[in-house]
Amino acid sequence: MSQPMIDPFGREVSYLRVSVTDRCDFRCVYCMAEDMTFLPKREVLTLEELDRLCSAFVDKGVRKLRLTGGEPLVRKNIMSLIRNLSRHLDSGKLEELTITTNGSQLARFADELAECGVRRLNVSMDTMDAAKFKTITRWGDLGKVMDGLRAATEAGLSIKINMVALKGVNEHEIVPMMRWCHDNGYDLTLIETMPLGEIDEDRTDQYLPLSLVRARIAEDFTLTDIPYKTGGPARYVEVKETGGRLGFITPMTHNFCESCNRVRVTCTGMLYMCLGQDDSADLRAALRASESNDLLYDAIDEAIGRKPKGHDFIIDRRTRQPAVSRHMSVTGG
Ligand code: SAM
Ligand code: SF4
Repeated sequence: MSQPMIDPFGREVSYLRVSVTDRCDFRCVYCMAEDMTFLPKREVLTLEELDRLCSAFVDKGVRKLRLTGGEPLVRKNIMSLIRNLSRHLDSGKLEELTITTNGSQLARFADELAECGVRRLNVSMDTMDAAKFKTITRWGDLGKVMDGLRAATEAGLSIKINMVALKGVNEHEIVPMMRWCHDNGYDLTLIETMPLGEIDEDRTDQYLPLSLVRARIAEDFTLTDIPYKTGGPARYVEVKETGGRLGFITPMTHNFCESCNRVRVTCTGMLYMCLGQDDSADLRAALRASESNDLLYDAIDEAIGRKPKGHDFIIDRRTRQPAVSRHMSVTGG
């Protein structure tokens, strides 16, 4: 039945990330090729199936649920799913319901998200330069994201900006971005590029180790490690001069696996026990095989029993192959 999820290394799984769609209105260079082929609709879980799946995980001890994608806010009727899932916040079973978004649709949805009990958002933004934003996202419009951020702030949502650090592309904008975020009351988290999926570019050209970035920032700012945790893999420092928080997600330079409490489900219902490994379990089959959740619970338990100790990401200069072949937009960020 719905027993808690404890993996073979004694880590309790309490955080679920669900990709609600593989589609997106952007084509970020490190995430997707420009001419992506998306999944046929029948393969993607319906909103009802997504609700059933998320609720089963909540029954099994998930306290924090993050919807991601692709771009979650481009999925048709996504707000009906979010509104339905908010019942688990009302019941107290779920501590947090949140999303990771590119911000393009936020101006439209911010108020409704707040009404549904969403308190915090992760918004991905790699630059504040409109032309560069277009180059990185290919199809994005920085002005719309800025409008979305304003709407989210007015709706009372806390914001964390996620910035992928890209060598030679936005590395000189990291400090200005940090100042801007902190002036606006946003946290900033820097992310190293991860070798996920075939893209049109060479990843070894994009990779910028955050250990180097941190050392550079520390030349001008006082950074103090703080135990602040959001349930995710970021490690935070407080920046004395700005009074804000700066996070680092360093899958490549630092092993962030030992405290891993997360699993991910794709929009087709594949459960990935680790972002950096290919092993997965087909929960869609269990969902569609029966109306009762027993098969689903069994499939989840069996999979958690195989959760690996850690990932083996490596950006390999010789083979230039991604470590895992699926894109981030499939597993969700
Ligand atoms: N579309 C939403 C967004 O952009 O926030 C949610 C999905 S996106 C895949 C989630 C996060 O993954 C984003 O912050 C994005 O920058 C990051 N991301 C995508 N591909 C990545 C990669 N190869 N390495 C590191 N981060 C990546
Ligand atoms: Fe879309 Fe997010 Fe991937 Fe950019 S990072 S292409 S916004 S899914």
